[in-house]
Amino acid sequence: MEIEPAEEVKEPPRIHRLDEPVVNRIAAGEVIQRPVSAVKELVENSLDASSTSISVLVKDGGLKLIQVSDDGHGIRYEDLPILCERHTTSKLSKYEDLQSIKSMGFRGEALASMTYVGHVTVTTITRGQLHGYRVSYRDGVMENEPKACAAVKGTQIVIENLFYNMIARRKTLQNSADDYTKIVDLLSRFAIHHIDVSFSCRKHGAARADVHSVATPSRLNAIRSVYGLLVAQNLIKIEASDHDPSSSVFEMDGFISNSNYVAKKTTMVLFINDRLVECTALKRALEVVYVATLPKASKPFIYMSITLPPEHVDVNVHPTKREVSLLNQEVIVEKMQSVVESVLRNSNESRTFQEQTVEATPSVPSVTNNDLHLSPSPSGSKSQRVPVNKIVRTDSSDPAGRMHAYLYKNPQKYLGRDSSLTTVRSSVRQRRNLKETADLTSIQELINDIDSKCHSDLLDIVRQSTYVGMADDVFALLQHNTHLYLANVVNLSKELMYQQVLRRFAHFNAIQLSEPAPLQELIMLALKEEDLDLESNENDELKKKIAEMNTQLLKQKSEMLEEYFCIFIDSDGNLSRLPILLDQYTPDMDRVPEFVLCLGNDVGSIV
Ligand code: ADP
Ligand code: MG
Repeated sequence: MEIEPAEEVKEPPRIHRLDEPVVNRIAAGEVIQRPVSAVKELVENSLDASSTSISVLVKDGGLKLIQVSDDGHGIRYEDLPILCERHTTSKLSKYEDLQSIKSMGFRGEALASMTYVGHVTVTTITRGQLHGYRVSYRDGVMENEPKACAAVKGTQIVIENLFYNMIARRKTLQNSADDYTKIVDLLSRFAIHHIDVSFSCRKHGAARADVHSVATPSRLNAIRSVYGLLVAQNLIKIEASDHDPSSSVFEMDGFISNSNYVAKKTTMVLFINDRLVECTALKRALEVVYVATLPKASKPFIYMSITLPPEHVDVNVHPTKREVSLLNQEVIVEKMQSVVESVLRNSNESRTFQEQTVEATPSVPSVTNNDLHLSPSPSGSKSQRVPVNKIVRTDSSDPAGRMHAYLYKNPQKYLGRDSSLTTVRSSVRQRRNLKETADLTSIQELINDIDSKCHSDLLDIVRQSTYVGMADDVFALLQHNTHLYLANVVNLSKELMYQQVLRRFAHFNAIQLSEPAPLQELIMLALKEEDLDLESNENDELKKKIAEMNTQLLKQKSEMLEEYFCIFIDSDGNLSRLPILLDQYTPDMDRVPEFVLCLGNDVGSIV
């Protein structure tokens, strides 16, 4: 083995264009993350094609076969050659159209993506034609000329062997519980929103469909047929609108569960401008209302359809389009909260709802001091009529009840700068609104575990509290209502990072290292810190061995590390990218060697 002299100045690596198939496959993996994402895209295409009946057939959780058949307008013969090319669409022609787009699709990526990660066959017939056409696609192009064939009205798209060329993903999906439940869940959601369309979803070989809805004018009927009588009979209709441009403009209608409904998990079916989307902020906000309003709160069932002026919704924030970003989101969330709250309160006149008071739980170690009261503000006009112990800090810069005089100060060292804290906080909030969990069942289970262990009173305290300042190296002072709490920042940060990793799993943004760093050297650096208790010669040899083995191992696992954790290791064993766990937070780069060493050890222990 030749060893390069250490002093030699490294030339910058050459930049080259990735081959197009590579680029396309990378992009495809983002659009089609798992079988259920393919089903969503296909069903949305069918809805865009004005179908009134859509049926889905799935084999092996979608890995073997996904077949979506509709009775929509079909695809023209002339369009078949470019149908599965990237960025070919019938729905958008200029950028401005995005502002008013009504169709679900517009990026022209879904079908193309599917051809890069699976085998796609399209059978379609347009109105007035005597026969249809069938054609298969691979990597964006037709495999053969379209063949004339008998066809029923509409389009049928079949995807076989999804992820046949993405071994790591296929294996993980095979190992996790299959996607079929997710697909059934997806179709159930579509079925209760698009009540003029009939949906069915069936597992290959099964005699009965698991979702079977018929077009109906009544939403409640649709919910009954999909989610069952127990859900449907415990729902209350909700409606609200606001047309005041100075605050918010929206129309909302839906159904929410009443106090008799019992469930372990929240079901939140949210459509914004007819798009099925996720909005964790809204979901959490409504859960809080349930906890606070109903005496024995169960997790709610919520179906909500919100219509906003199209220019208030940015639909193009995510390749899978499952997130949208809204203008005035916080205002809208608050409005929905208050609507749901008042409907719940009025829903049962004969029943008296007890207010649940949020109290500190002394059993939680990080919240240790609930008896500190604020000093009155000498000049604050608000404080005139309010009892001393009732002064509530609403803003950390609020002069009422300044605590800073009592604080141990070391602004340089701590996250003491309010401005940066606010930005971090708001960006965390923003990120939370996105649905960013990887849809892997194992990850979902970990997240569910966290959610189920979440202490709602404590959550409320943390959410509604105002940061006062650091009390010492470890504890921060937080104020909630009239109580002051000491929060262990170290523990909280660890938990925050862990939860962020789960929620961003496989969707991390990257920190690009200015120069790729050789893993072996990083590991050596980290090992130098450790004393292996051997003769110095032997010691060095051993360290070198460990570094070599760990590097080898990480290189072998690079595909998985990249896909799930955005840790990028090239074939020469250089580290060039790390994940962003928290927006606007850059980790201490001096700790990278230590991190890589741990990574090597941990990856080693899971193989
Ligand atoms: P997008 O939906 O963003 O336009 P897709 O890749 O999903 O991109 O689809 C590309 C085009 O193929 C669509 O614009 C539409 O014209 C056509 N198409 C796809 N599926 C269907 C379908 N089921 N029925 C009719 N046309 C379809
Ligand atoms: Mg589409």
